[in-house]
Amino acid sequence: MTAYDYDLFVIGAGSGGVRAARIAAGHGAKVAVAEEHRVGGTCVIRGCVPKKLLVYGAHFAEDLKDARHFGWTVGEPGFDWPSLRDSVLAEVTRLEGLYGQTLASHDVTVIRQRATIADPHIIALADGTRVTAKYILVATGGWPVKPDIPGAEHGITSNEVFHLESLPRRVVIGGGGYIANEFAGIFNSFGSQVTLVNRSDAILRGYDEQIRDRLLQISMAKGIQFRFNCPFERIEKNADGTVLVHFAGADPVEADLVLFATGRAPNIAGLGLAEAGVELTSSGAVRVDAYSKSSVDSIYAVGDVTDRVQLTPVAIREGHAFADTVFGGKSVAVDHETIPMAVFSHPPLAGVGLTEAQARNRLGTVRTYTSDFRPMKNVLAGRNERSLYKMIVDDASGKVVGLHMIGPDAPEILQAAAIAVKAGLTKAQFDETVALHPTMSEELVLMK
Ligand code: NDP
Repeated sequence: MTAYDYDLFVIGAGSGGVRAARIAAGHGAKVAVAEEHRVGGTCVIRGCVPKKLLVYGAHFAEDLKDARHFGWTVGEPGFDWPSLRDSVLAEVTRLEGLYGQTLASHDVTVIRQRATIADPHIIALADGTRVTAKYILVATGGWPVKPDIPGAEHGITSNEVFHLESLPRRVVIGGGGYIANEFAGIFNSFGSQVTLVNRSDAILRGYDEQIRDRLLQISMAKGIQFRFNCPFERIEKNADGTVLVHFAGADPVEADLVLFATGRAPNIAGLGLAEAGVELTSSGAVRVDAYSKSSVDSIYAVGDVTDRVQLTPVAIREGHAFADTVFGGKSVAVDHETIPMAVFSHPPLAGVGLTEAQARNRLGTVRTYTSDFRPMKNVLAGRNERSLYKMIVDDASGKVVGLHMIGPDAPEILQAAAIAVKAGLTKAQFDETVALHPTMSEELVLMK
Protein backbone atom coordinates (compact mmCIF):
# COMPACT_ATOMS: atom_id res chain seq x y z
CA MET A 1 0.00 0.00 0.00
CA THR A 2 1.32 3.42 -0.93
CA ALA A 3 2.13 5.83 1.86
CA TYR A 4 1.21 8.77 -0.39
CA ASP A 5 -2.17 10.12 -1.49
CA TYR A 6 -1.01 9.88 -5.13
CA ASP A 7 1.79 8.18 -7.02
CA LEU A 8 1.98 11.24 -9.26
CA PHE A 9 0.81 14.82 -8.79
CA VAL A 10 1.02 16.94 -11.94
CA ILE A 11 0.94 20.72 -11.66
CA GLY A 12 -0.46 22.12 -14.91
CA ALA A 13 -2.93 20.51 -17.34
CA GLY A 14 -1.33 21.66 -20.58
CA SER A 15 0.00 19.50 -23.40
CA GLY A 16 2.91 18.01 -21.42
CA GLY A 17 1.07 17.57 -18.13
CA VAL A 18 -2.01 15.94 -19.65
CA ARG A 19 0.07 13.47 -21.69
CA ALA A 20 2.20 12.55 -18.66
CA ALA A 21 -0.89 12.09 -16.46
CA ARG A 22 -2.69 9.89 -19.00
CA ILE A 23 0.29 7.65 -19.73
CA ALA A 24 1.28 7.32 -16.05
CA ALA A 25 -2.32 6.37 -15.19
CA GLY A 26 -2.22 3.82 -18.04
CA HIS A 27 0.83 2.30 -16.37
CA GLY A 28 -1.26 1.84 -13.20
CA ALA A 29 -0.27 4.97 -11.26
CA LYS A 30 -2.75 6.88 -9.09
CA VAL A 31 -2.62 10.37 -10.60
CA ALA A 32 -3.96 13.88 -9.88
CA VAL A 33 -3.57 17.02 -11.99
CA ALA A 34 -4.04 20.55 -10.68
CA GLU A 35 -4.94 23.35 -13.09
CA GLU A 36 -5.61 26.94 -12.01
CA HIS A 37 -6.78 28.16 -15.44
CA ARG A 38 -8.39 25.95 -18.10
CA VAL A 39 -7.56 22.35 -18.97
CA GLY A 40 -5.60 22.27 -22.24
CA GLY A 41 -2.92 24.84 -21.46
CA THR A 42 -1.37 27.42 -23.78
CA CYS A 43 -1.58 25.42 -27.01
CA VAL A 44 -5.28 24.60 -26.84
CA ILE A 45 -6.63 27.61 -24.95
CA ARG A 46 -4.52 30.60 -26.05
CA GLY A 47 -1.91 29.42 -28.53
CA CYS A 48 -1.46 27.04 -31.46
CA VAL A 49 -5.09 25.99 -31.88
CA PRO A 50 -6.97 29.33 -31.83
CA LYS A 51 -4.03 30.95 -33.72
CA LYS A 52 -4.20 28.37 -36.53
CA LEU A 53 -7.96 28.89 -36.82
CA LEU A 54 -7.40 32.64 -37.15
CA VAL A 55 -4.75 31.94 -39.81
CA TYR A 56 -7.32 29.91 -41.75
CA GLY A 57 -9.84 32.73 -41.34
CA ALA A 58 -7.31 35.33 -42.48
CA HIS A 59 -6.38 33.40 -45.61
CA PHE A 60 -9.83 33.94 -47.11
CA ALA A 61 -8.87 37.58 -47.74
CA GLU A 62 -6.44 36.44 -50.44
CA ASP A 63 -8.50 33.46 -51.56
CA LEU A 64 -11.51 35.66 -52.24
CA LYS A 65 -9.39 38.06 -54.31
CA ASP A 66 -7.75 35.19 -56.20
CA ALA A 67 -11.08 33.50 -56.89
CA ARG A 68 -11.94 36.18 -59.48
CA HIS A 69 -8.92 35.11 -61.53
CA PHE A 70 -10.31 31.58 -61.54
CA GLY A 71 -13.64 32.63 -63.03
CA TRP A 72 -15.65 33.22 -59.88
CA THR A 73 -17.89 36.22 -59.41
CA VAL A 74 -17.35 37.41 -55.87
CA GLY A 75 -19.30 40.35 -54.43
CA GLU A 76 -17.59 42.90 -52.18
CA PRO A 77 -16.40 40.65 -49.32
CA GLY A 78 -16.97 41.73 -45.74
CA PHE A 79 -15.37 40.37 -42.60
CA ASP A 80 -17.01 40.11 -39.18
CA TRP A 81 -14.44 39.67 -36.40
CA PRO A 82 -16.89 38.82 -33.57
CA SER A 83 -18.31 35.99 -35.63
CA LEU A 84 -14.88 34.39 -36.28
CA ARG A 85 -13.73 35.11 -32.70
CA ASP A 86 -16.79 33.44 -31.20
CA SER A 87 -16.51 30.36 -33.46
CA VAL A 88 -12.85 29.98 -32.52
CA LEU A 89 -13.56 30.37 -28.80
CA ALA A 90 -16.38 27.82 -29.03
CA GLU A 91 -14.00 25.34 -30.67
CA VAL A 92 -11.47 25.95 -27.89
CA THR A 93 -14.17 25.19 -25.31
CA ARG A 94 -15.07 21.97 -27.17
CA LEU A 95 -11.43 20.86 -27.14
CA GLU A 96 -11.08 21.75 -23.47
CA GLY A 97 -14.00 19.40 -22.79
CA LEU A 98 -12.29 16.61 -24.74
CA TYR A 99 -9.09 17.04 -22.72
CA GLY A 100 -11.14 16.80 -19.51
CA GLN A 101 -12.86 13.65 -20.78
CA THR A 102 -9.52 12.03 -21.63
CA LEU A 103 -8.28 12.61 -18.10
CA ALA A 104 -11.52 11.34 -16.57
CA SER A 105 -11.54 8.20 -18.71
CA HIS A 106 -8.04 7.40 -17.42
CA ASP A 107 -9.16 7.88 -13.79
CA VAL A 108 -6.99 10.96 -13.35
CA THR A 109 -8.33 13.29 -10.64
CA VAL A 110 -8.54 16.88 -11.91
CA ILE A 111 -8.19 19.52 -9.20
CA ARG A 112 -9.27 22.90 -10.49
CA GLN A 113 -7.20 25.16 -8.33
CA ARG A 114 -3.67 26.44 -7.93
CA ALA A 115 -1.14 24.01 -6.46
CA THR A 116 2.31 24.82 -5.08
CA ILE A 117 5.13 22.68 -3.74
CA ALA A 118 5.41 22.68 0.06
CA ASP A 119 8.01 19.93 0.27
CA PRO A 120 9.48 17.37 -2.19
CA HIS A 121 6.44 15.13 -1.53
CA ILE A 122 3.79 17.61 -0.34
CA ILE A 123 1.56 19.81 -2.50
CA ALA A 124 -0.35 22.76 -1.04
CA LEU A 125 -3.66 23.58 -2.74
CA ALA A 126 -5.14 27.08 -2.85
CA ASP A 127 -8.05 26.03 -0.58
CA GLY A 128 -5.58 25.10 2.17
CA THR A 129 -5.65 21.32 1.60
CA ARG A 130 -2.33 19.49 1.51
CA VAL A 131 -1.83 16.28 -0.44
CA THR A 132 1.16 13.98 -0.69
CA ALA A 133 2.66 12.32 -3.75
CA LYS A 134 5.57 10.01 -4.47
CA TYR A 135 6.44 12.10 -7.52
CA ILE A 136 5.59 15.67 -8.50
CA LEU A 137 5.66 16.76 -12.16
CA VAL A 138 5.94 20.49 -12.82
CA ALA A 139 4.26 21.23 -16.16
CA THR A 140 3.27 24.85 -15.65
CA GLY A 141 4.44 26.07 -19.05
CA GLY A 142 5.46 29.63 -19.84
CA TRP A 143 3.96 33.09 -19.68
CA PRO A 144 4.35 36.05 -22.07
CA VAL A 145 6.92 38.65 -21.06
CA LYS A 146 6.29 42.35 -21.64
CA PRO A 147 9.18 44.83 -21.88
CA ASP A 148 9.76 46.65 -18.61
CA ILE A 149 8.69 50.14 -19.75
CA PRO A 150 6.28 52.78 -18.45
CA GLY A 151 2.81 52.15 -19.86
CA ALA A 152 3.45 48.46 -20.66
CA GLU A 153 0.04 47.77 -19.09
CA HIS A 154 -1.58 49.50 -22.10
CA GLY A 155 -0.34 46.66 -24.35
CA ILE A 156 -1.78 43.16 -24.53
CA THR A 157 -0.14 39.76 -25.14
CA SER A 158 -1.16 36.61 -26.99
CA ASN A 159 -3.17 35.68 -23.86
CA GLU A 160 -5.69 38.42 -24.56
CA VAL A 161 -5.55 38.75 -28.35
CA PHE A 162 -8.13 36.03 -29.00
CA HIS A 163 -10.75 37.95 -26.99
CA LEU A 164 -10.60 41.41 -28.63
CA GLU A 165 -13.92 43.26 -28.65
CA SER A 166 -13.17 44.70 -32.07
CA LEU A 167 -10.41 44.70 -34.67
CA PRO A 168 -7.84 47.49 -34.27
CA ARG A 169 -7.54 49.87 -37.22
CA ARG A 170 -3.82 50.30 -36.42
CA VAL A 171 -1.75 47.80 -34.45
CA VAL A 172 1.84 47.95 -33.24
CA ILE A 173 3.34 44.52 -32.68
CA GLY A 174 6.41 44.32 -30.44
CA GLY A 175 8.95 41.57 -31.22
CA GLY A 176 10.07 39.86 -34.39
CA GLY A 177 9.59 36.20 -33.52
CA TYR A 178 6.91 33.57 -34.04
CA ILE A 179 3.92 35.32 -32.52
CA ALA A 180 4.80 38.73 -33.98
CA ASN A 181 5.02 37.44 -37.55
CA GLU A 182 1.98 35.19 -37.28
CA PHE A 183 -0.22 38.00 -35.93
CA ALA A 184 1.24 40.53 -38.38
CA GLY A 185 -0.11 38.30 -41.15
CA ILE A 186 -3.46 37.76 -39.41
CA PHE A 187 -4.15 41.44 -38.67
CA ASN A 188 -2.91 42.54 -42.11
CA SER A 189 -5.30 40.13 -43.81
CA PHE A 190 -8.21 41.41 -41.72
CA GLY A 191 -7.41 44.93 -42.92
CA SER A 192 -5.58 46.41 -39.92
CA GLN A 193 -2.56 48.62 -40.53
CA VAL A 194 0.35 46.71 -38.95
CA THR A 195 3.69 48.04 -37.71
CA LEU A 196 6.06 45.34 -36.46
CA VAL A 197 8.79 46.72 -34.21
CA ASN A 198 11.83 44.76 -33.09
CA ARG A 199 14.77 45.61 -30.87
CA SER A 200 17.29 43.88 -33.17
CA ASP A 201 17.87 44.18 -36.93
CA ALA A 202 16.11 40.99 -38.01
CA ILE A 203 12.95 38.92 -37.79
CA LEU A 204 12.91 35.27 -36.74
CA ARG A 205 16.48 34.96 -35.57
CA GLY A 206 17.44 31.28 -35.75
CA TYR A 207 15.71 30.64 -39.08
CA ASP A 208 17.69 30.48 -42.32
CA GLU A 209 18.56 34.00 -43.43
CA GLN A 210 17.37 33.69 -47.04
CA ILE A 211 14.01 32.29 -45.93
CA ARG A 212 13.35 35.03 -43.39
CA ASP A 213 14.48 37.67 -45.88
CA ARG A 214 11.86 36.33 -48.28
CA LEU A 215 9.17 36.61 -45.59
CA LEU A 216 10.25 40.18 -44.89
CA GLN A 217 10.03 41.13 -48.58
CA ILE A 218 6.61 39.52 -49.04
CA SER A 219 5.28 41.02 -45.80
CA MET A 220 6.44 44.49 -46.86
CA ALA A 221 4.80 44.03 -50.26
CA LYS A 222 1.55 43.20 -48.42
CA GLY A 223 1.79 46.54 -46.61
CA ILE A 224 3.15 45.46 -43.22
CA GLN A 225 5.55 48.11 -41.90
CA PHE A 226 8.75 47.15 -40.09
CA ARG A 227 10.97 49.04 -37.69
CA PHE A 228 14.26 47.50 -36.62
CA ASN A 229 16.78 48.41 -33.90
CA CYS A 230 13.88 50.19 -32.28
CA PRO A 231 13.50 49.52 -28.55
CA PHE A 232 10.24 50.53 -26.84
CA GLU A 233 10.54 53.52 -24.50
CA ARG A 234 7.04 54.13 -23.12
CA ILE A 235 3.36 53.95 -24.03
CA GLU A 236 0.92 56.76 -23.38
CA LYS A 237 -2.82 56.25 -23.38
CA ASN A 238 -4.83 59.01 -25.07
CA ALA A 239 -8.22 60.19 -23.81
CA ASP A 240 -9.96 58.54 -26.78
CA GLY A 241 -8.55 55.10 -25.87
CA THR A 242 -5.83 55.09 -28.55
CA VAL A 243 -2.17 54.85 -27.58
CA LEU A 244 1.00 56.73 -28.49
CA VAL A 245 3.98 54.38 -28.58
CA HIS A 246 7.38 55.97 -28.00
CA PHE A 247 10.65 54.38 -29.08
CA ALA A 248 14.29 55.16 -28.29
CA GLY A 249 15.67 57.16 -31.21
CA ALA A 250 12.64 56.95 -33.52
CA ASP A 251 9.37 58.81 -34.09
CA PRO A 252 6.39 57.71 -31.98
CA VAL A 253 3.56 55.73 -33.56
CA GLU A 254 -0.13 56.17 -32.81
CA ALA A 255 -2.13 52.96 -32.61
CA ASP A 256 -5.38 51.41 -31.43
CA LEU A 257 -3.65 48.32 -30.07
CA VAL A 258 -0.19 47.26 -28.92
CA LEU A 259 0.49 43.52 -28.96
CA PHE A 260 3.64 42.43 -27.18
CA ALA A 261 5.18 39.27 -28.64
CA THR A 262 8.52 39.65 -26.95
CA GLY A 263 9.09 36.09 -25.79
CA ARG A 264 7.83 33.84 -23.01
CA ALA A 265 9.35 33.01 -19.64
CA PRO A 266 9.03 29.80 -17.58
CA ASN A 267 6.02 29.94 -15.27
CA ILE A 268 7.59 29.39 -11.85
CA ALA A 269 6.47 32.35 -9.73
CA GLY A 270 5.41 31.32 -6.24
CA LEU A 271 5.55 27.59 -6.97
CA GLY A 272 7.96 26.90 -4.10
CA LEU A 273 10.58 25.32 -6.36
CA ALA A 274 13.71 26.98 -4.96
CA GLU A 275 12.46 26.41 -1.38
CA ALA A 276 12.08 22.70 -2.14
CA GLY A 277 15.68 22.61 -3.36
CA VAL A 278 14.93 22.56 -7.11
CA GLU A 279 17.75 24.10 -9.13
CA LEU A 280 16.80 26.72 -11.72
CA THR A 281 18.70 27.91 -14.80
CA SER A 282 19.74 31.54 -15.34
CA SER A 283 16.50 32.08 -17.31
CA GLY A 284 14.43 30.80 -14.37
CA ALA A 285 13.65 27.43 -15.96
CA VAL A 286 13.66 24.16 -14.03
CA ARG A 287 17.01 22.48 -14.70
CA VAL A 288 16.40 18.86 -15.67
CA ASP A 289 18.39 15.88 -16.90
CA ALA A 290 17.72 13.85 -20.07
CA TYR A 291 14.83 12.09 -18.26
CA SER A 292 13.26 15.39 -17.12
CA LYS A 293 14.33 14.85 -13.50
CA SER A 294 15.17 18.00 -11.52
CA SER A 295 17.89 18.30 -8.89
CA VAL A 296 15.35 16.84 -6.41
CA ASP A 297 14.75 13.10 -6.95
CA SER A 298 10.96 13.21 -6.54
CA ILE A 299 10.39 16.32 -8.68
CA TYR A 300 10.36 16.25 -12.48
CA ALA A 301 9.49 18.92 -15.05
CA VAL A 302 8.44 18.91 -18.71
CA GLY A 303 7.51 21.44 -21.38
CA ASP A 304 8.06 25.20 -21.51
CA VAL A 305 8.85 25.47 -17.78
CA THR A 306 12.14 23.69 -18.61
CA ASP A 307 12.83 26.05 -21.55
CA ARG A 308 14.42 23.34 -23.70
CA VAL A 309 12.44 23.75 -26.93
CA GLN A 310 9.22 25.77 -26.47
CA LEU A 311 6.99 23.67 -28.72
CA THR A 312 3.86 21.65 -27.94
CA PRO A 313 4.92 18.37 -29.60
CA VAL A 314 8.17 18.53 -27.63
CA ALA A 315 6.30 18.98 -24.33
CA ILE A 316 4.07 16.04 -25.25
CA ARG A 317 7.10 13.83 -25.97
CA GLU A 318 8.76 14.89 -22.73
CA GLY A 319 5.59 14.12 -20.74
CA HIS A 320 5.22 10.72 -22.41
CA ALA A 321 8.91 9.84 -21.92
CA PHE A 322 8.71 10.86 -18.23
CA ALA A 323 5.69 8.60 -17.63
CA ASP A 324 7.31 5.64 -19.42
CA THR A 325 10.56 6.16 -17.52
CA VAL A 326 9.11 6.55 -14.03
CA PHE A 327 5.98 4.35 -14.23
CA GLY A 328 6.44 2.16 -17.33
CA GLY A 329 9.74 0.49 -16.46
CA LYS A 330 11.35 1.79 -19.67
CA SER A 331 13.85 4.67 -19.56
CA VAL A 332 13.19 7.02 -22.45
CA ALA A 333 15.22 10.18 -23.13
CA VAL A 334 13.74 12.68 -25.59
CA ASP A 335 15.85 13.44 -28.64
CA HIS A 336 15.83 17.23 -29.07
CA GLU A 337 17.81 17.17 -32.34
CA THR A 338 16.41 17.85 -35.82
CA ILE A 339 12.97 19.04 -34.69
CA PRO A 340 10.85 20.48 -37.51
CA MET A 341 9.54 23.99 -36.83
CA ALA A 342 7.10 26.28 -38.61
CA VAL A 343 5.86 29.84 -38.50
CA PHE A 344 2.26 30.29 -39.65
CA SER A 345 2.93 33.63 -41.27
CA HIS A 346 1.44 34.70 -44.63
CA PRO A 347 2.87 32.73 -46.42
CA PRO A 348 4.06 30.22 -43.84
CA LEU A 349 7.63 29.06 -43.48
CA ALA A 350 9.11 25.88 -42.06
CA GLY A 351 12.50 24.36 -41.45
CA VAL A 352 14.29 21.33 -40.08
CA GLY A 353 17.95 20.76 -39.25
CA LEU A 354 20.80 23.21 -39.70
CA THR A 355 20.56 26.61 -41.35
CA GLU A 356 23.21 27.38 -43.95
CA ALA A 357 25.18 29.49 -41.44
CA GLN A 358 25.04 26.77 -38.75
CA ALA A 359 26.09 24.09 -41.23
CA ARG A 360 29.06 26.15 -42.45
CA ASN A 361 30.20 26.68 -38.86
CA ARG A 362 29.81 23.07 -37.82
CA LEU A 363 30.63 21.06 -40.92
CA GLY A 364 33.05 23.11 -42.97
CA THR A 365 32.16 22.33 -46.56
CA VAL A 366 28.50 22.34 -47.39
CA ARG A 367 26.57 22.60 -50.62
CA THR A 368 23.29 24.47 -50.88
CA TYR A 369 20.56 23.83 -53.41
CA THR A 370 17.61 26.14 -53.92
CA SER A 371 14.41 26.33 -55.83
CA ASP A 372 12.98 29.81 -56.19
CA PHE A 373 9.63 29.58 -57.97
CA ARG A 374 6.24 31.19 -58.39
CA PRO A 375 3.58 28.63 -57.44
CA MET A 376 1.21 27.81 -60.32
CA LYS A 377 -1.77 29.12 -58.37
CA ASN A 378 -0.08 32.47 -57.78
CA VAL A 379 0.73 32.83 -61.48
CA LEU A 380 -2.92 32.51 -62.54
CA ALA A 381 -4.01 34.72 -59.63
CA GLY A 382 -1.59 37.43 -60.81
CA ARG A 383 0.09 37.27 -57.41
CA ASN A 384 3.77 38.07 -57.70
CA GLU A 385 4.75 36.06 -54.63
CA ARG A 386 7.56 33.54 -54.98
CA SER A 387 8.28 30.47 -52.87
CA LEU A 388 11.79 29.52 -51.84
CA TYR A 389 12.99 26.03 -50.91
CA LYS A 390 16.53 25.53 -49.72
CA MET A 391 18.45 22.34 -49.02
CA ILE A 392 21.73 22.23 -47.11
CA VAL A 393 23.93 19.21 -47.84
CA ASP A 394 27.06 18.03 -46.04
CA ASP A 395 29.62 17.81 -48.84
CA ALA A 396 31.56 14.92 -47.30
CA SER A 397 28.63 12.53 -46.76
CA GLY A 398 26.07 13.93 -49.20
CA LYS A 399 23.52 13.92 -46.35
CA VAL A 400 20.80 16.54 -46.24
CA VAL A 401 21.46 18.34 -42.95
CA GLY A 402 18.93 21.13 -43.34
CA LEU A 403 15.77 21.88 -45.27
CA HIS A 404 14.05 25.26 -45.20
CA MET A 405 11.08 26.53 -47.11
CA ILE A 406 8.65 29.41 -47.45
CA GLY A 407 5.51 29.23 -49.54
CA PRO A 408 1.93 27.94 -49.48
CA ASP A 409 1.53 24.86 -47.26
CA ALA A 410 5.25 24.83 -46.38
CA PRO A 411 4.63 23.32 -42.90
CA GLU A 412 2.45 20.55 -44.37
CA ILE A 413 5.15 19.67 -46.90
CA LEU A 414 8.05 19.96 -44.50
CA GLN A 415 6.62 17.50 -41.95
CA ALA A 416 6.95 14.67 -44.49
CA ALA A 417 10.36 15.79 -45.73
CA ALA A 418 11.59 16.06 -42.11
CA ILE A 419 11.32 12.27 -41.83
CA ALA A 420 13.94 11.92 -44.56
CA VAL A 421 16.21 14.55 -42.99
CA LYS A 422 15.89 12.96 -39.54
CA ALA A 423 16.67 9.57 -41.09
CA GLY A 424 19.88 11.02 -42.55
CA LEU A 425 19.05 10.52 -46.23
CA THR A 426 21.34 11.95 -48.89
CA LYS A 427 20.58 14.46 -51.64
CA ALA A 428 21.08 11.58 -54.13
CA GLN A 429 18.37 9.56 -52.33
CA PHE A 430 15.98 12.53 -52.46
CA ASP A 431 16.65 12.77 -56.22
CA GLU A 432 16.03 9.03 -56.78
CA THR A 433 12.38 9.65 -55.91
CA VAL A 434 10.34 10.53 -59.00
CA ALA A 435 8.68 13.96 -58.85
CA LEU A 436 4.95 14.12 -58.18
CA HIS A 437 3.75 16.53 -60.85
CA PRO A 438 2.34 19.15 -60.74
CA THR A 439 2.94 19.99 -57.08
CA MET A 440 5.06 22.47 -55.19
CA SER A 441 6.66 19.68 -53.15
CA GLU A 442 8.16 18.10 -56.30
CA GLU A 443 10.81 20.83 -56.02
CA LEU A 444 12.25 18.80 -53.12
CA VAL A 445 13.51 16.14 -55.54
CA LEU A 446 14.45 18.53 -58.34
CA MET A 447 16.67 21.02 -56.55
CA LYS A 448 19.65 22.38 -58.41
P1 NDP B 1 10.21 34.56 -29.85
O1 NDP B 1 11.25 34.06 -28.95
O2 NDP B 1 9.91 33.82 -31.10
O3 NDP B 1 10.57 36.05 -30.29
C1 NDP B 1 10.72 37.06 -29.35
C2 NDP B 1 11.01 38.33 -30.08
O4 NDP B 1 10.93 39.41 -29.18
C3 NDP B 1 12.37 38.37 -30.72
O5 NDP B 1 12.25 38.97 -31.98
C4 NDP B 1 13.19 39.23 -29.77
O6 NDP B 1 14.15 39.99 -30.42
C5 NDP B 1 12.14 40.15 -29.20
N1 NDP B 1 12.38 40.56 -27.81
C6 NDP B 1 12.71 39.79 -26.78
N2 NDP B 1 12.79 40.51 -25.66
C7 NDP B 1 12.48 41.78 -25.99
C8 NDP B 1 12.41 43.00 -25.27
N3 NDP B 1 12.65 43.06 -23.97
N4 NDP B 1 12.06 44.11 -25.95
C9 NDP B 1 11.82 44.06 -27.27
N5 NDP B 1 11.89 42.95 -27.99
C10 NDP B 1 12.22 41.81 -27.36
O7 NDP B 1 8.93 34.77 -28.93
P2 NDP B 1 7.36 34.77 -29.17
O8 NDP B 1 6.82 35.57 -28.05
O9 NDP B 1 7.02 35.15 -30.57
O10 NDP B 1 6.97 33.24 -28.98
C11 NDP B 1 7.34 32.54 -27.80
C12 NDP B 1 7.67 31.10 -28.10
O11 NDP B 1 6.48 30.40 -28.36
C13 NDP B 1 8.53 30.92 -29.35
O12 NDP B 1 9.88 30.98 -29.07
C14 NDP B 1 8.10 29.55 -29.82
O13 NDP B 1 8.92 28.58 -29.23
C15 NDP B 1 6.68 29.40 -29.33
N6 NDP B 1 5.72 29.60 -30.44
C16 NDP B 1 5.73 28.72 -31.47
C17 NDP B 1 4.88 28.86 -32.53
C18 NDP B 1 4.93 27.89 -33.66
O14 NDP B 1 5.49 26.81 -33.48
N7 NDP B 1 4.42 28.22 -34.84
C19 NDP B 1 3.92 29.97 -32.59
C20 NDP B 1 4.00 30.86 -31.47
C21 NDP B 1 4.87 30.67 -30.44
P3 NDP B 1 15.51 39.45 -31.06
O15 NDP B 1 15.53 37.97 -30.90
O16 NDP B 1 15.46 39.85 -32.49
O17 NDP B 1 16.56 40.13 -30.28
